[in-house]
Amino acid sequence: MRIDLKQEIIKLVELQKIDSQIYALTRKKDIDNPIILSKIKNEFQEKAKILEEFEISAKETQINKKEKELDLATKEAAISKSNTQLYQLKTNKEYQAKLSEISSLKADISVLEDAVLTVLEKIEQAQAQLKKQREKVAQYEKESKEKENEILNEQKEIEIQLKIAQDKRGKISRDVDKAILSKYERLLNSRSGLALAPVNHDSCGACFLRTNHKTINEIKMYKDLIFCDSCVRILYIPEDIEG
Ligand SMILES: [Zn+2]
Repeated sequence: MRIDLKQEIIKLVELQKIDSQIYALTRKKDIDNPIILSKIKNEFQEKAKILEEFEISAKETQINKKEKELDLATKEAAISKSNTQLYQLKTNKEYQAKLSEISSLKADISVLEDAVLTVLEKIEQAQAQLKKQREKVAQYEKESKEKENEILNEQKEIEIQLKIAQDKRGKISRDVDKAILSKYERLLNSRSGLALAPVNHDSCGACFLRTNHKTINEIKMYKDLIFCDSCVRILYIPEDIEG
């Protein structure tokens, strides 16, 4: 049976419109959106990690404070013990030695008290930073969730659009000559979802190679499929097809 090649190309042009849609939707669903989703997740994890470091540092400062306070309490207990002992000592020498021990303890305590004050200041700073950081991360988490939901909703919407496009594609492709369809689909798969190229201003609409008159005349004869010499897509003349 002789096929009407022009009619076949008209169907292919229709098919290509839908296939381009399907290609773009699939790319978005399987590549672009998953990349965005993983980026959102990674960025949030980075922020959460910074917060965790703040938490650890704040905890360490608290431990440091407890150590210093414990040290302080030990030294204070030692002083009060020494003070009681002071009145039980028999000799002046022992008494002088105890006094010097007490004075040394007092000096230590004074240093420790300063250290505790410094630590308290640090804790205050750390708590303020921590609070700010927690708020920041909470806000970021909220925004991330919103962005994520937006993308997930878009994914669902794409699924629906894809289903519609696939149905349309099925209907159109059923009518295309099998051999031509198989050539078209091979090109579609190997040429980034674009098997057909219009000749615009004497150039291939896909790769922009100039087409000579001989090629254009061959296309217009509709005896064989004519391919671009460079990108090997099926060429067609839009004015001829759509007009
Ligand atoms: Zn080309």
